Amino acid sequence: MILAANFKANKTRQETQAYMAVVESFVSANDISDTVIVFPPFTALEHISRNVLIGVQNGYPVQNGAYTGEIALEQLEEFDIRTILIGHSERRHIMKESQELIAEKFRFFAEQGFIIVYCVGEPLAVRQEGEGKLMAYVEAQFEGIDLTYPDLIIAYEPVWAIGTGLTPSMEEIERVHDALRLQTTAPILYGGSVKVENAGAIMALNNVDGVLVGSAALSAHDFCEMIAEAVQLNTDKA
Ligand code: PEP
Repeated sequence: MILAANFKANKTRQETQAYMAVVESFVSANDISDTVIVFPPFTALEHISRNVLIGVQNGYPVQNGAYTGEIALEQLEEFDIRTILIGHSERRHIMKESQELIAEKFRFFAEQGFIIVYCVGEPLAVRQEGEGKLMAYVEAQFEGIDLTYPDLIIAYEPVWAIGTGLTPSMEEIERVHDALRLQTTAPILYGGSVKVENAGAIMALNNVDGVLVGSAALSAHDFCEMIAEAVQLNTDKA
C-alpha cells in the first residue's frame, strides 16, 4: 500500500519536525514496508534522509530562472526531493492551472526521474451526469500524461470529496478504480475525506493501492493509525 499525507498550506517548520518524528519512529518501530509519503509545505523541507519519502506539493518545470514566486528543480535538488504531486484539484481549480501546464510539469519532472503522484477527479456536477461523463472528464485530465511512466502513482480524488467529509460509496470508488486500471498499471490511490474510520475499508477495495489524505493526516497519530490499517490489510490478504 501507499499512504500519502498532503499538508497543503498547513503546519510550520517546527510542527512538521514534530510530526515527522512521530511518523518516522512509528515506521521504524513497526518495520513498515508500505510506502509512506509526506508532502509538507516548502518552508518545512530539510536536509535529512528519512525512512519516509518527502515530496513537494508543486514545482515549476524549469532548472531555475525568472519565475517570481516559484520553486524550480535547482531548489528541490538542494533538499534531495525526488517526489512531486502534480494536478491536485486545488491547483487546477484555485490556482487555475491548465491541463497544458500540468502536462508540461509532468513531462519535465518525469524526465528528471521524479516519483509523480498525479491527481485526477471530477467536480460534483460532472459526477451527477453519470459515470460515462465522469470517465470522459478524467480522461481529459490524462491529456499529455504518459500513463506508462514507471514512477507514476495515480490519485483519484473526486473534487467534491476533498475536505468536505463526503465520499463516494465503496462501490462507486471501486468502479472508478476498476475503470482506471484498464488504462494504467500504475498504483491508484483514492483521496477525498479519507480518515481513520474509512481508510481500512477503502484500501481493501479492488484496485485501490493506497490513499492520499489531507485533513485527517494532519494528525500524526491518525496518519499512523491509517498506516497500521494498511499493515493489517497486508496480513489479511497474505
Ligand atoms: C487532498 O488534499 O488530497 C485530500 C484528499 O484532502 P482531504 O483528505 O482533506 O479530503
